[in-house]
Amino acid sequence: MTDFTKTRTLFHLPEGIIYLDGNSLGPLPISAQARVARMMGAEWGEQLIKGWNSARWFTQPRRVGDRIGRLIGAQEGTVVMGDTLSIKVYQALAAALALNPDRRVVLSDNGNFPSDLYIAQGLLKALDRELELRIVDPEDVETAIDESVAVLMVTEVDYRTGRLHDMKALTARAHAAGAITVWDLAHSTGAIPVDVAAAGADFAVGCTYKYLNGGPGAPAFIYVAPKHLETAQPALSGWMGHAAPFAFDLEYRPGSGIDRMRCGTPPVIALAALEAALDAWDAVDMAAVRARSIELCDLFISAVEKRCPDLVLNSPRDGNKRGSQVSFRHPEGYAIMQALIAQGVIGDFRAPDSMRFGFTPLYIGDSEVRGAVDVLEHILTNRLWDLPEYRRKAAVT
Ligand SMILES: *Cc1c(COP(=O)(O)O)cnc(C)c1O
Repeated sequence: MTDFTKTRTLFHLPEGIIYLDGNSLGPLPISAQARVARMMGAEWGEQLIKGWNSARWFTQPRRVGDRIGRLIGAQEGTVVMGDTLSIKVYQALAAALALNPDRRVVLSDNGNFPSDLYIAQGLLKALDRELELRIVDPEDVETAIDESVAVLMVTEVDYRTGRLHDMKALTARAHAAGAITVWDLAHSTGAIPVDVAAAGADFAVGCTYKYLNGGPGAPAFIYVAPKHLETAQPALSGWMGHAAPFAFDLEYRPGSGIDRMRCGTPPVIALAALEAALDAWDAVDMAAVRARSIELCDLFISAVEKRCPDLVLNSPRDGNKRGSQVSFRHPEGYAIMQALIAQGVIGDFRAPDSMRFGFTPLYIGDSEVRGAVDVLEHILTNRLWDLPEYRRKAAVT
């Protein structure tokens, strides 16, 4: 049994705020403050460079990777931490393409997060061998998988609508057509049960500052299926992924297994915060998180549709086809979200007109859902969004 009243005590949630944006940046796990302070003081401060061995900073990317692995169904030694998600997408896609050298197409969909598509565009340009990025509607991905596809690169949960791809079915279909798969789990990890091994995914990547609460800029992860561990070519061949980083050879030789997907020096301070954040997941059953998340999302959808009829649902109605977030559309979505934030209900806005709300059972319950809908109804009924200051776009929306 997962006790969600207990998990919520693990987080710092500012007084008077209803936080429905943990899908974008999770809140501060209280223990992360002490863990980072210890890293700064007792480790960096006192041990200086000795900390790479004595405080085990050097092996931390693997240790933390194994803990993430338990949340995504990956066996030990197949996940490593480092860099940002965009960079992990580059590594995974480059390695996947190299495993399928006779084909030319990378297949993705227009519900993918733009950074993944940008990275693919940049990589294909750099490879300069007439590769094509084919972008279809999310509903058409399955039928677009044919024998021209080298790599299927998709994000399991659509960042805008929460629509869920069937990872197992699409991977099977891709394999039947001879394609390699790269799954982005940015909005899946910590949100829904994931089993990369059961799905047969070849590569998977994800970030840790969303549902895993690792903090702004927390490092990303990459998973490589056991069958590819010794053949996957690391395109970003940095010294930390070398077979013998401290031999200082002039020639690159990939490290064994997942270590080759390391690139440069790991972000040790950020990894310390993430390690503390992962403690929250030790006592959590992902099936219970999933069931509760669907309840919370369903409650929000039914209350909004009843009380805020101007808003149009922009997410699958069936909870099993949705991640842990719900979007509603309105032509003035941006201004409405600013008014909500001003009144202490934090969600976010995704262009052109989507208001996005994340539901994270670890620290959100029915009372927050009801409270948020109360404020939303109040703002819409009284047109409180209709102020020039709510229309001014900030750099980050
Ligand atoms: C959040 C997110 C990113 C962000 O990448 P960063 O390199 O961490 O900024 C990339 N892809 C997807 C699918 C995301 O949801």
